[in-house]
Amino acid sequence: MSKVLAALEAALGDAVATDEASLRAHRRDYWSRSELTDWLGESASLPLAVVTPTSTAEMAEAVRICRAHDTAMITRGGGSGVCGGVLAGRDQVVLSTRGLSGLEQLDEHDLLATFGAGTMGADAENAVAAAGYTIGNWPQSIALSTVGGWVATRASGQYSTAYGNTEDLIYDLEAVLPDGSIFRSRPTPRAAAGPDLRQLLLGSEGTLGVVTRVTFSLRPQAEHGIRQAFHFEDFATGIEAMRQVIRPGWRPPVVRLYDARESRRHFRDTCPKGRAMLIFLHEGPRALAEAEAAAVAVICRELGGEPADRQTVDDWFAHRNTVPSWRELFEQGLVVDTIEVATDWRRLNDLYEATLARFEAVPGLVAASAHSSHAYRSGANLYFTFAAAPGRDGMLSAYDACWQGAMEAAAELGAGIAHHHGIGRVRRAWMATEVGAPGVELLRRVKQALDPDGLMNPGVLLPDS
Ligand SMILES: Cc1cc2nc3c(=O)[nH]c(=O)nc-3n(C[C@H](O)[C@H](O)[C@H](O)COP(=O)(O)OP(=O)(O)OC[C@H]3O[C@@H](n4cnc5c(N)ncnc54)[C@H](O)[C@@H]3O)c2cc1C
Repeated sequence: MSKVLAALEAALGDAVATDEASLRAHRRDYWSRSELTDWLGESASLPLAVVTPTSTAEMAEAVRICRAHDTAMITRGGGSGVCGGVLAGRDQVVLSTRGLSGLEQLDEHDLLATFGAGTMGADAENAVAAAGYTIGNWPQSIALSTVGGWVATRASGQYSTAYGNTEDLIYDLEAVLPDGSIFRSRPTPRAAAGPDLRQLLLGSEGTLGVVTRVTFSLRPQAEHGIRQAFHFEDFATGIEAMRQVIRPGWRPPVVRLYDARESRRHFRDTCPKGRAMLIFLHEGPRALAEAEAAAVAVICRELGGEPADRQTVDDWFAHRNTVPSWRELFEQGLVVDTIEVATDWRRLNDLYEATLARFEAVPGLVAASAHSSHAYRSGANLYFTFAAAPGRDGMLSAYDACWQGAMEAAAELGAGIAHHHGIGRVRRAWMATEVGAPGVELLRRVKQALDPDGLMNPGVLLPDS
């Protein structure tokens, strides 16, 4: 037995698993390319162990032992990441946060809820919903992802246009740093006390520490909700409608615009062929929701939007968290993935067209489409889906070519390369286009300062030097 394994077992006993089923189940995340290489029979080796501490102190002990034995640590939450942030190799230890689970404190007076970082998102939302509150973060993967994973990837929920993204919802964090020390941000509604150190952990993807506790600032559940939808002549007009809705200050939690292909796919019964569907959820105090719904309807109609049957939005709600099975698609000969990017309103339609053109140039491409699901005062995201059928031998290269095309289109237009899925392995080569060479160097120095031996999730986030 290796020395690190012996030390982990001596200190943490049953929290250490080495059976093949555990190692296999924790080896990777939901990255389509990892699943494809597994399916093609090119699986990588298994990690040394999976450690599932049940307290912050145990997590800190596991980190100190791994560090003392110069052993790489791969933090894993729900494993729903789609960028290859979790891909544990031989001689590496997976630190699962799933033992740090559950609601620890609910403060109804101050609207605060503290969870172990390994709490599944749906469990966290259900726990506060039972008392009449909401966290307000509804990623499609809410049942598959942990609240610590949301922090580590800067996840974004379907209601983000009103409620914000993970960084807007968290109040306080606790994390084990790479040296085994425990960092706790000060629980206060706002601070002008130097840089916000929570930001070091937000989007750190397991490279700068293990998030162990998360406190959210809650909202009471909305008193009233209104659903409505409009379809437009084309995607560009729909984008303009979104811009005009957001600009004066309306904030529907759900604002989602689908291009003609996706509108046809999702709303065949309610969207005429060739038109782009824009759906809204308005919620809050009844008077606010009603005023917003009325004002938004005026804006949409002025831009030629035709009201759609309300069933459109009900259908979206019914299917909004459906999870695709990559494997079933591979079996049909299809390689599929999604890529989300973001830019300002001015360039959004150009980015849409340029990215689709890149996909269409990939041999074997059978479909490419997009929607926009998160809107801001100065721009929005685009969420692309591509599918190619290049034959078994061409699947990996078609996958890589689609990603390369999308990243190059974003770089050429000065757009953001990742709206909410993170960087992981799939985007790290393009980090310099996002933050510039000095930005990459700054990130390297932060990493070097906190994790000088590079033991926390090596191979993720930072490009090769
Ligand atoms: C079907 C589907 C739909 C999705 N929809 C959305 C969506 O709507 N919005 C969205 O933002 N994302 C979405 N995702 C992506 C994914 O769910 C998010 O990135 C999520 O935040 C990952 O959480 P996780 O707990 O599963 O993390 P994991 O996959 O386990 O890990 C992701 C990364 O975070 C690190 N990490 C995880 N936990 C911690 C921790 N406690 N401390 C430090 N590092 C940690 C890991 O090392 C890894 O680098 C979707 C994924 C799927 C499969």
